[in-house]
Amino acid sequence: MRAAPGMLYDAEITSHLFEHARDIVLVIDASTGAILDANRAAEQAYSWSRDELRARTIFDLRESPPHSVSEQMRQASATGILFETIHRRSDGTTFPVEVSSRGEIISGRRALLSVVRDITERKLFETEREELLLATQRALAMRDEFLVIASHELRAPVTNISLQLQHLSRLIDRGTVRAALRVVGEAVHGEARRLAALIDSLLDAQAVKGQLVLDRTDVELSTVVADVVDRLRARAEQAGSELVIEVPEIHGRWDRMRIDQVLSNLVGNAIKYGRGRPVRVVAGIDGPHASIEIADEGIGVSQDDIDRIFGKFERAVPSQYGGLGLGLFIARQIVEAHDGLIHVHSVPGIGSTFRVVLPRV
Ligand code: ADP
Repeated sequence: MRAAPGMLYDAEITSHLFEHARDIVLVIDASTGAILDANRAAEQAYSWSRDELRARTIFDLRESPPHSVSEQMRQASATGILFETIHRRSDGTTFPVEVSSRGEIISGRRALLSVVRDITERKLFETEREELLLATQRALAMRDEFLVIASHELRAPVTNISLQLQHLSRLIDRGTVRAALRVVGEAVHGEARRLAALIDSLLDAQAVKGQLVLDRTDVELSTVVADVVDRLRARAEQAGSELVIEVPEIHGRWDRMRIDQVLSNLVGNAIKYGRGRPVRVVAGIDGPHASIEIADEGIGVSQDDIDRIFGKFERAVPSQYGGLGLGLFIARQIVEAHDGLIHVHSVPGIGSTFRVVLPRV
């Protein structure tokens, strides 16, 4: 007949629990820290045999300074204690543990009974969770900042449109001549285009490199530059910047609209950050590549910010300069989709030169 569990001797149960527990169990002399006994899990965890463990003290397994170990032993003996610390294996490597320790009288001797759990995985999980939390907090902060900038940027043209329309209706009431009405109409149109361009760049920013589908045709670069310059001439004049263009006839198989977008962003920035100084657009053929440089004599970018400004929503200027921080991000996506390169050389206070290199075929 099988014996009921209750019929086993207590000592036998205790010995089974001690021996086969998955956690490390250490019996430690409460006054000296000498290890009196250790279970199989301890042998495996510390890579010491039981006899080797019995020849050591708890101080040998700990990384902490002896006085803090003694203090924990005192607390464990008095009230029992649960704490996390670091233990050391025979080869000197360490692992994080959670220790539950309390004082008991064992064989007439004051001893500490410590159950030690290896928490390596828990710690890894906690670190991953903290990193994830930090990344989420950063993303949320970035989103909040972006919403502030985006709403400010989108609101400006809407406000201008509504002011111009109020002006227009007053002019109509007064029976103003057609030419004056046309000027207001063009101003409204310009603001609407600005609004559309902002919305387009927001949508473009969602496109990642792999998803950017190019519509390649035979493109002649100087005509693209001419289009861009025509569109930006008024803005350059307003800023007081002269546009100097030295672009010969260069053919390549590119997406015309996208290259136009890159150059519009770069020339637009050169005007915006150019402090009213001249902006030069110079292009040439460099072996199988076409290279285009847009140089200004403006505020420049500090070395610390140079890599960052090509990132999404990254800006390195005070908010008085309007912008979403998407132009360079989109420009880089487009240039890289063409297997090209974009980089910048800049000196704060002296100016910036953005260089785009595109394979011609
Ligand atoms: P935005 O101009 O809308 O801020 P961009 O992506 O076009 O966004 O540019 C990102 C940042 O790079 C700008 O905020 C500015 O700090 C910096 N930058 C870009 N072009 C220039 C330039 N020509 N001179 C100085 N700084 C520039």
